[in-house]
Amino acid sequence: MNHDFIEALEKGDLETIRKIPKADLHNHFVLGGSREFIKDKTGYEIYPITSPLNSMREMDAWSSNYIGNRFNTPEGRRLLIEATFVQAKLDGVKVLEIGEDVWGLGEFFQNDIKELINAFQEANNRVAPEIELRLQIGLSRHCSIDYLMECLSHFWGHKEFYSIDLYGDELAQPIENFVPIYEKAAENGLVLKAHVGEWGNAQDIITAIEVLHLDEIQHGIAAIQDRKAIDYLVENNIRLNITPSSNFLLGRVKDLKTHPIATLYRSGVDVTIGSDDILIFDSDVSKEYLRLYQCGCLTAVELDDIRKNGLRTTWKN
Ligand SMILES: [Zn+2]
Repeated sequence: MNHDFIEALEKGDLETIRKIPKADLHNHFVLGGSREFIKDKTGYEIYPITSPLNSMREMDAWSSNYIGNRFNTPEGRRLLIEATFVQAKLDGVKVLEIGEDVWGLGEFFQNDIKELINAFQEANNRVAPEIELRLQIGLSRHCSIDYLMECLSHFWGHKEFYSIDLYGDELAQPIENFVPIYEKAAENGLVLKAHVGEWGNAQDIITAIEVLHLDEIQHGIAAIQDRKAIDYLVENNIRLNITPSSNFLLGRVKDLKTHPIATLYRSGVDVTIGSDDILIFDSDVSKEYLRLYQCGCLTAVELDDIRKNGLRTTWKN
């Protein structure tokens, strides 16, 4: 038990919370950067949303207002990678799982996989060498499988990658379509992850694990709807990387106090706390821990246990 962490939560001492090691295993680096760093480098002010969105159209409006095409260049992409390491360092993140969407390889790295890998590793070494980078391959769920397979042909066989993740519109196409990709990812020794159970339901979580043989799930909070799904997560040792402020601000949960993370954790599910999109949700992991404590969702001792759990690997190979 880390008494400094527990005491810092009890006192609302964010600065001390920031100094204590944490993991962020659910971070989309494009929106994971430090606001101050981005403003400093570009002059752009990016404000987070502060009340729950009523529709994804509002999310799109936020994106076009603050992000738009401003960073859609190789230099812009690198700036966002660097901003994410700056932010993670300030936040005391010691294990950071981030990576590029497969389409970004052609768009920002001239289809040169070594250049892509190097962009992340170089920023890691220069800005925050103390952070363990777990490099991820990212897939958007609306893309066709043929297109994704074509993009992925550049990624396979590169041992620098730690995991693969599927995100975007959870309802865009059936999870079964992704079986060939996840079979290949398993052959490549990657940790298998997908965004499930954020917009979908408890059965979607079980199905996704069964058909893709997932190790970890991004969100998975819909498991709360069905005891069977919770038991399934525990029995199969599936980790959920949960992002509370994002869930609240996207209207997935009523409030933080009753967030499903408490029941999931107390039922024995392996949970971690991540940021999702810091620039939108103002959700640095240190703030997420403090918010969950202050609203009474989890106790300081429980939050310390979750913090330590996040630093533990689930790497199976
Ligand atoms: Zn996410």
